[in-house]
Amino acid sequence: MISMDIELEGGFQALAPGGGIVAFGGTIGELLAAAAQAAPALGRRVMTATGALAPEVDVRLNGIDARLWGGLRALVRPDDRILVRPYRPDPLSPGQAERYTRQLILVEIGPAGQARLGGARVAVIGAGGLGSPAATYLAAAGVGHLVIIDGDRVERSNLQRQPIHRDEDVGAPKADSAARTLRAINPDIEISAVNGFLTAENALGLLRECDVIVNGSDNFPTRYLVSDAAVLLQKPLVDASILRFEGRISVHLPRQGCYRCLFPSPPPPGSVPNCAEAGVVGALGGQIGAMQALEAIKLITGAGESLGGRLLVYDALSGEQHRFTLPRDPECPVCGDHPSQASLIDYEAFCGVGVPQERSDLLGISVADAMRLRSDPAVQWLDVRPPGALERPTIPGARRLPLEEIGAGETLEPGRPVVVFCDIGRRSLLAAERLARSGIDARSLQGGLVAWLAAGLELTS
Ligand SMILES: [Zn+2]
Repeated sequence: MISMDIELEGGFQALAPGGGIVAFGGTIGELLAAAAQAAPALGRRVMTATGALAPEVDVRLNGIDARLWGGLRALVRPDDRILVRPYRPDPLSPGQAERYTRQLILVEIGPAGQARLGGARVAVIGAGGLGSPAATYLAAAGVGHLVIIDGDRVERSNLQRQPIHRDEDVGAPKADSAARTLRAINPDIEISAVNGFLTAENALGLLRECDVIVNGSDNFPTRYLVSDAAVLLQKPLVDASILRFEGRISVHLPRQGCYRCLFPSPPPPGSVPNCAEAGVVGALGGQIGAMQALEAIKLITGAGESLGGRLLVYDALSGEQHRFTLPRDPECPVCGDHPSQASLIDYEAFCGVGVPQERSDLLGISVADAMRLRSDPAVQWLDVRPPGALERPTIPGARRLPLEEIGAGETLEPGRPVVVFCDIGRRSLLAAERLARSGIDARSLQGGLVAWLAAGLELTS
């Protein structure tokens, strides 16, 4: 319990003796309950009869809408700035009033909630099995700005569970295809299609202006990346996954834990199958993705109680669901009391992304064998470390081409063999796989620059 100054604005000052309030509490709910006791006239404006936050009240925690941090459950700290004022949005247009009429009559949403949705910006990562239904319902509900991030193209095998895409979209960038459908559903909102993957380099920039992050990605590197970015940016994250007949959804609120508190380190590469290997039933994605949309809508409007700090596991075969509490780990390297990681990292290396040994043997080249190619002018040397490593010493004569840019318009001379390398040989193996798929004879330097230096070989200075 801490003592906090609650600032009042917009006429609320007159409802409290002295124009402001000092209250004790560790959450917004405790502070507002104390404020309501000290100034009953203010309390009647701020809280509903059932103890919920009144829809026509705006509570700001360091300038951020406290609803996005869990509303009454939002945690406060001694140096926070808390401001309470009336919420008076512009009235809806007749067209909007007609479009949203079914949710406008819900007391938990109403005109104030609808206006909050219209003012919100939500990022949906992945326009696949989860992102497709999530984005559809968010667009239909009138979320004012959706950012759809996906670097894949629509494949025919996607259509079984991703009804945002149509048969005629096969081959098109998924983000574009999704945006087309969403605009057709609701021309009243803004959609930004990002035709590229979320990476450690672009994540903070893409997500910084968003109010809620909805993660529909299907791989561990992106899941850790999104979680870390959400913590660093202090954004609520609606996370989910589906596999076979089981769906999982959890909400991580700022200050209340993260994915890493639950899973500090990724599973060994290849130990957890993905949907392509193990299969998934499409309607399950529809169900869990729609729940993600619902959790985002609850956060934005303040309706009900979010799944913040909880994990819900749904078994579609039995129809049973179980809810677990996810406590924050004070030792968490990202969101703990003394975080050791203050920036994003190389998540593909962190997760040792699925590169089974046989592929490593097939596409790898030892330092000794690579040395023998140094005198062959036909061989191209490619440094695929992250863009942040562009200034670092490299193998003389090598071209810099970060893994993220391979396949994104960058061309290599066909017919010339390529040796790709990175720091330790993981990124380069992924790069070699990508290049091999496009018919290039590519070999990944085993052990990377670490092994290169250990063999006494030189780098540019
Ligand atoms: Zn954590």
